[in-house]
Amino acid sequence: MIARIAKDFHWEMGHRLPYHDGGCQNVHGHSYRMRVELVGEVDAQGMVMDYFDIKAAVEPLIERLDHSFLCDESDDVMKALFNKQSFKVNYVPFYTTAENIAHYILQELLPSFRGRPGLQSLTVRLHETERTFAELSAQL
Ligand SMILES: [Zn+2]
Repeated sequence: MIARIAKDFHWEMGHRLPYHDGGCQNVHGHSYRMRVELVGEVDAQGMVMDYFDIKAAVEPLIERLDHSFLCDESDDVMKALFNKQSFKVNYVPFYTTAENIAHYILQELLPSFRGRPGLQSLTVRLHETERTFAELSAQL
């Protein structure tokens, strides 16, 4: 039997899009919500994967991102500030759109799920606001 399971996570994080001219160029933050979804074979214990194991795999990344500023490495304005202050910041080599963050998270999580017997796919759905999300999947 194949089943789809999911666990939801949330964190607060600041960012900006330096190239944007519609408001997103300003420093601001979001209450990000993320659904981590797995499709796989239900095992003899009746599980695709233990929810506690999903949490253990995802939580270190959430702790790293929570109450940080996600800073695009090419954003010299913010880098100048963070070089002078000891704020919590994570540097990434991409514009911090929901699509790119979802892709980054998917790549960060894949090693924790690849190789587990029975799993078929991993999906990350990242909600930046109440009404918007980006979603990416990978085969396992
Ligand atoms: Zn934003």
